[in-house]
Amino acid sequence: MSLPRSVLPGLLLLAAGCASAPPEAVATEFGPVRAATRADAEAGADRLVALAPRVRALLPELTDEPIELWVLDRFDADRDPQREAYTWVRQRRIHIHRENLLFDFTLGHELVHALIERSWRALPGIVEEGLADHVGLELSPADAPAVRMARLFAVQSDWARLDLRVQLVEASPDRGARLPRRVAGDLVVQVEELARDWTFEQAFALSALELARLDERPDRLHLRGVGFLLVDRVLARTGYRGLYALAEGAPAGEGLDWRELARTAGLDADPAAWRDAYLHAWGEDELRALAARLADELADVLVDWAAPGQLEEAMESPRSGVRARVGLSRTGRYVDVLAVPEVLAAVRRALAREAGSPDPVAGTAPAP
Ligand SMILES: [Zn+2]
Repeated sequence: MSLPRSVLPGLLLLAAGCASAPPEAVATEFGPVRAATRADAEAGADRLVALAPRVRALLPELTDEPIELWVLDRFDADRDPQREAYTWVRQRRIHIHRENLLFDFTLGHELVHALIERSWRALPGIVEEGLADHVGLELSPADAPAVRMARLFAVQSDWARLDLRVQLVEASPDRGARLPRRVAGDLVVQVEELARDWTFEQAFALSALELARLDERPDRLHLRGVGFLLVDRVLARTGYRGLYALAEGAPAGEGLDWRELARTAGLDADPAAWRDAYLHAWGEDELRALAARLADELADVLVDWAAPGQLEEAMESPRSGVRARVGLSRTGRYVDVLAVPEVLAAVRRALAREAGSPDPVAGTAPAP
């Protein structure tokens, strides 16, 4: 099994295409919220008033200038309206789709771009994106497993080789006499690389705007994943104020040296250290989110491996001793995928398909 990495969602900071201002406006203490309908403008204002103070509470040195929020019902056709948003930094104006699936996370993310002042801008573009992601997740913690998984999975580098292991095991030695205790299947899933090779120097040299303007989506997502990982580690060690202190201390007119950021993250230019950091960033929540995203592929593999009745037994009784799991042998971290609702549903579908399929030995033709 080989998985393309480009299948996962990403958010963009993009400035292209000029929409005209939506007609309805609601004033807030942070600035106006505009939308096509009064109801959408009011709903957007409600979220802005709820989230902006929380961004302010997290980050030092934000602007007091008003910002503007446009809640739109249409985006450029080539973007995914339910996942993307963008900020016109100079105008401090955020565009977000009314049906964005991660509305609070996305608005929190864009508020960072809209509110940070000059001193923050010494951060490399991928670090600004990583910062915005982390603030967005603080505002919407329920989205953390899916977003963290998507960011990590998008990283494509030799040091980020994700050899995901899928296993079907009969784990209990004293149960299931009709099933021998054995590993029924064991597969290492390779992930297909779609981005080009970026050196650390190249990755950290991009501004946020240059990053947003990269044409290749796998490259953009790869770079954002690198920034996410780095910021994850910096915040764990120094918090938002420590990250700000690094930005503020950068030489005037120059960006912050990426090596200093890496040092703060407990990393250096050695890919082995990044590899270790990358694999350990995959916690159980992220692995479960990845299993949910790959539910159909996992279900096909498991149904192919399982003895008759084996998966049914495992699903009916968690104590059956049969376990289907995915994880990383390098960290020893595995999760039980039959406990992931999306995988469970996909296995039931695959079993039903299998039960309804013609018998290949007898060569029975399907009913018309
Ligand atoms: Zn962004």
